[in-house]
Amino acid sequence: MPLVQHLYANCQPTLGWGGFDLFVDPPGRLEVRINVYFEVEPAVGPVDLDDFLFDWQQAVSDKWDDKIRIRSNAPPNEDLSVVFRMRRVNALGNAHFPVLIKAGGYAAGAGLYFPTPGLFGGNRMHLKLGMLDNLTWLQGSDANIRAGVPGARALMFMDQRDRVLQSLPGHGMPGFANTLDITMNLNGGVWSVAPGDQPDLDALCQALAGTPPWLPQPAVKISASSGKQGKIDTITNNVRNYMMLHGVNNVSIDRNPILTGKRFRMPFTAHNTTKAVTIEVLPVPEMVKRTRAGQAVADNVVSAHEFGHLLGLPDEYLNYGVHMAGSAIMVNSQPAWDLLCGQHVPAVPVRAWNDAYNDSMMSVGTTIYRAHAITIWDCLGTASGQGWTITRP
Ligand SMILES: [Zn+2]
Repeated sequence: MPLVQHLYANCQPTLGWGGFDLFVDPPGRLEVRINVYFEVEPAVGPVDLDDFLFDWQQAVSDKWDDKIRIRSNAPPNEDLSVVFRMRRVNALGNAHFPVLIKAGGYAAGAGLYFPTPGLFGGNRMHLKLGMLDNLTWLQGSDANIRAGVPGARALMFMDQRDRVLQSLPGHGMPGFANTLDITMNLNGGVWSVAPGDQPDLDALCQALAGTPPWLPQPAVKISASSGKQGKIDTITNNVRNYMMLHGVNNVSIDRNPILTGKRFRMPFTAHNTTKAVTIEVLPVPEMVKRTRAGQAVADNVVSAHEFGHLLGLPDEYLNYGVHMAGSAIMVNSQPAWDLLCGQHVPAVPVRAWNDAYNDSMMSVGTTIYRAHAITIWDCLGTASGQGWTITRP
């Protein structure tokens, strides 16, 4: 039988918190409706909560809408695309989730909190969000990124740089200086990488190009010195072009042509046909500065991440067993999430929630994974009394 329009009210995810209404709206649409109740910390000052919710909804729609599809297991097996709609309610009792608007900077103290005396009756899981948290990390952290401060994401950047350093000859040996020395040869008027040095340079390029696309590649600096500006420009440009042809991103390459004082040669001195070039892998702050829009780490929006908690989903960048030991509900939620994923047929791949910094929406990125649909799938099955299958993402 074809699906008919139906509202399933107050569905309760089983992982420990959250709640929503599910509105089956054939053909092709499932609306997840969440009633939000706001309180504002006095230190924040006057807030237009409707404006705030409008911006939050925009961020949520942008990141979450039409990424998840759920198909009915009953003929004619209609496939529903999932969209998310928040509504503001004026009484805590009518809310699926309470939210405290807090003072402070971007991403500072935002997140999921367990019940706290004096807040929302003392018995409600709740969110804290700041006025800047509808911005992307790139927008909200602009000053820090310019200064090369990676913040809580430091480990992601360090891991990638360490991986690249390990591709360099002499890594871990005494005197290793985060550099690769190569020779450029002049042949037929063209400066090119000495054939014997190409394997080492190729290995470095491959490591740089192997950086996940949601992060900037570790930055490198190409240095060569000469008394002739044109010569060192040509040589450093040619090394850069070689690296770009081997997958290295232009924004991650600095050229450092060093003009020396030796400008004039005796006429009888033969021109050198080789030139030493040093390629240095720069420190993490240089990598952070090259973070740009279009990369998941840059486009992550705090409030769109926190929205995932309204669906009953845990964090992936925190292992609650370590960081939330005060709350049995939170500690149990992550293993329970894995179990729920295992109940779907076929099993939904679980998320690596053990302090995992990556491109996932419930980590520090923007990607919606199939495991992020699991509480909706579970609630829809329970409420409708029939089977469903997650078909996207
Ligand atoms: Zn979170």
